[in-house]
Amino acid sequence: MSAVRKVEVAGENGYSIEIGPGLLEDGARLSKPLRGRHALIVSDGNVAPLYLDSVETTLHAARPDLTLARFVMPAGEHEKTLARFGECLHALAALGATRDATVIALGGGVIGDLAGFAAACWMRGIDCVQLPTTLLAMVDSSVGGKTAVDLPSGKNLVGAFHPPRAVIADTAALRSLPERELRAGLAEVVKYGAIFDATFLDWLEAHADALLARDDDALAEAIARSCAYKAEVVARDPFERGDRAMLNFGHTFGHAIETEQGYAGTSGDGLNHGEAVAVGMVLAARLSAALGRASLADAERLQRLLQRLGLPTAIPPGLPPQALLARMRLDKKADAAGLRFVLWDRAGAARIVSGVPDQDVLAVLAA
Ligand code: NAD
Ligand code: ZN
Repeated sequence: MSAVRKVEVAGENGYSIEIGPGLLEDGARLSKPLRGRHALIVSDGNVAPLYLDSVETTLHAARPDLTLARFVMPAGEHEKTLARFGECLHALAALGATRDATVIALGGGVIGDLAGFAAACWMRGIDCVQLPTTLLAMVDSSVGGKTAVDLPSGKNLVGAFHPPRAVIADTAALRSLPERELRAGLAEVVKYGAIFDATFLDWLEAHADALLARDDDALAEAIARSCAYKAEVVARDPFERGDRAMLNFGHTFGHAIETEQGYAGTSGDGLNHGEAVAVGMVLAARLSAALGRASLADAERLQRLLQRLGLPTAIPPGLPPQALLARMRLDKKADAAGLRFVLWDRAGAARIVSGVPDQDVLAVLAA
C-alpha cells in the first residue's frame, strides 16, 4: 500500500487532510477524530450502497462504544436544499446528538456542503469529519470550511464557515466514480497549477494518462498537491475576505455558462461545474493575453492540457456573448467598478483584477 500523504491546514481551527488508498477501511484513522459517543453519517443514494455499510462496520469495530446513525438522501445538486438540511437536523435529534457528537460526511461536494452546514448549526456547532468520495470534493469542497445549501433563487445562498475537524480522502473510492465526474475534478486540479505553480502544470502534463487511468499514486499526489495549495490560501484568508478569491480563476466565466444554460449540467445535458470551469479558465487565460498581461502561448498550453484530460475548452453553442456578459454582471464577483476577474500575470501566477472593460470581455467571448 502506498504511503498516506498528509496536508495540514494551519491556524486556530487547523486540521489535517489525509490522502491514500484504503483509508475508509482503517478503523483507527476513521475513529481518531471522533470525540464523543455519537456520530451521524450523512451520505447519498449513490455512495451509500457502495461504502456506507463498510464504514459503519469499520467504525464499530474500532469504537464499540459509538452510537451511529445514518442519514441517506437522494443524490444530486437539486437535493442540496433547506428541506434536506432540516431532515438532517431531525436525524441528529433522533440520534440524541450532544455537543460532542460528530457529523460524518461520506460523499461528494453536495453531501459535504449540506452535512457541514448541519454540523455548523446543530447546537451552534459540532464537529464535522469529511470523507470525500469525488475528486472534486477531495481537492476542493471538503477543504476550507465553506458549507452551504441552495435556495431556488441561487446556489449556496445559505451557509456558514465551519472548518472540518478532519478530512480523510480514500483514493480507492475514486475507482467507482463516473468518468465525467473524475474529469470535472481534474479541471479544479489544473486550476491550482494555473494560478499557483507552473511546475505543477508540467507535472500534470507528464501524468495526464496516469490520472485518467486512476493510478492511485498519481491521484494521491495530485490531490495532496491541490490540497496543499488550497490549505495555504485558506489559512491566510479563512473567511474569503481577500486573496482566497484567487480560487475563482475560471469561475466568473464558468458560472455565467452554468447559469445561462440553467444548470443543465446537473441533469445530464450541458456542461457540469468542472467542465464549465475548464472553459472558463481558457477564457480567463485568453482575456489575460488580450489585455497584454500574459502570453497567448500559455493560454494555448492550458487549453491543450485540459483537452488531453477530456475537458471542453470552448463555449457550447447557443450561449450568446451578450447573455453571458449580463450573467457576469449579476455575479457576486462583479462590483461597482465593473467586472472583476482572476487573471494571469503568467501561467502559475494570478491576481484579482477589477474594472475589466466590457468590450475586452465580449471580444474573448465572441472569439
Ligand atoms: P456530487 O456530490 O453531486 O457528486 C457527484 C456525483 O457522484 C453524485 O451523483 C454522487 O452521488 C456521485 N458519487 C460521489 N462519490 C462517488 C463514488 N465514489 N463513486 C460513485 N459515485 C459517486 O458533486 P461534487 O462534484 O462532488 O460536488 C459539487 C458540489 O460541491 C456543489 O454543490 C458545489 O457547490 C460544492 N462545492 C463546494 C465547495 C466548498 O468550498 N464548500 C467548493 C467547490 C464545490
Ligand atoms: Zn469550482
